[in-house]
This record gives sequence, C-alpha cells and structure tokens, in this order.
Amino acid sequence: MFLFRPHHFVCFLSFQGKGYSSDFVDGVNEILTTLKDNPQEKLISVVQGCDSACEKCPNRKFGKCQYDEAVSEKDSAYSTLLNITYGNKLSFSDMQKIRTRIRKEDFIKVCAKCLWFDICLHNLFQ
Ligand code: SF4
Repeated sequence: MFLFRPHHFVCFLSFQGKGYSSDFVDGVNEILTTLKDNPQEKLISVVQGCDSACEKCPNRKFGKCQYDEAVSEKDSAYSTLLNITYGNKLSFSDMQKIRTRIRKEDFIKVCAKCLWFDICLHNLFQ
C-alpha cells in the first residue's frame, strides 16, 4: 500500500523525472511503475502528513516535512478542489479521473511557488 498526501496526486500526475534528490526520483518512479502495472488495484491510501514519496525526500526531518506549513496548505487545497478524501483507497485508474479535475486556474494558484511549476504546467495543460 502506498500512502499519498493530496497534493502528491498532482505531483505524480505531472512527474517528469525531476525531484529533490536522485533517491527521491527513484522512489517516485518505483511507485509509479507499480501503480501503472496494476491500474485497477486500490494500492493508494490517502493520508495527512508525510507519505510514501516523502520517505526518500531530503526535506523530511524526524518524520515531518520541513516545509510542513506550506505543503499542508497545498494538501488542504487539493483535497477540496479535487475531491480527495483522507482515508480513501484509490487505484492508478482513479488517479486518471483525478487528473480530469485539475483546473489550470487552480493549479496556477496553488502550485505557483513550486520549483517545478513550469514543467508541471506544461505537462498537465499543453
Ligand atoms: S518531505 Fe516535503 S518537500 Fe519532500 S516530498 Fe514530502 S511534502 Fe514534498
């Protein structure tokens, strides 16, 4: 089972191999590969706080994101905007449905300050 915080659905759906470290990128790729190989299986559990992607991130310190305030705001925003409920069990196929709910104006508002904003903007909306 993979744990997903809400804003990471957007990160994974627009992922282009960029990340905070090579370990982090490898971890995301491993998760995506497993999900894509089993598209109907409910392998994702929606959680609050650090998740499976965070496990290999250098910004995770003592089990918590060092940017916790900012990323928790993103989680809260996308939980509402994309109708992602904490505790839900979802599949890769469900992720594709979530993708259709990402509106460009919401993405620009919520993710504007992210390092990979331009890459994700292009991937999601071009
Ligand atoms: S630890 Fe923070 S910066 Fe790293 S992936 Fe998790 S939420 Fe993102």
